[in-house]
Amino acid sequence: MSVARFWRKQQNRYNLIGTHCETCGRYFYPPRPFCPDCRREGKIVDHKFKGTGTVVTYTIIRSAGDQFKFLTPYPLAIIELDEGTKLTSHVICDIDKIHIGMRVKSVFRKLAEEGSSGAIFYGTKFVPA
Ligand SMILES: [Zn+2]
Repeated sequence: MSVARFWRKQQNRYNLIGTHCETCGRYFYPPRPFCPDCRREGKIVDHKFKGTGTVVTYTIIRSAGDQFKFLTPYPLAIIELDEGTKLTSHVICDIDKIHIGMRVKSVFRKLAEEGSSGAIFYGTKFVPA
């Protein structure tokens, strides 16, 4: 992976950046380099999502691998962003507070921890809006 591509990828994690097809109006997250509907007709541009959305469905994760153990139990939700695309993410809130239809917004938080190496990964998560 080139350095430029690496940093571009990092930037996508820190900001909620996806792509938008100006031809048909669809939004994509994670970013897609082309539109599956418009194909060659599609005009793809970068899009920074507002980061607000609604919980469509969720599950409570009660056991996870070492990387995510410090988080359990936690809600993992499918979130529909206001632009209309869906993604899966942790929601940081009490597990008995989360519900379908809950408004959420993106935040930048610790994503995972690697036990032995101590490496910490950061990325986008959601909190109640
Ligand atoms: Zn399109």
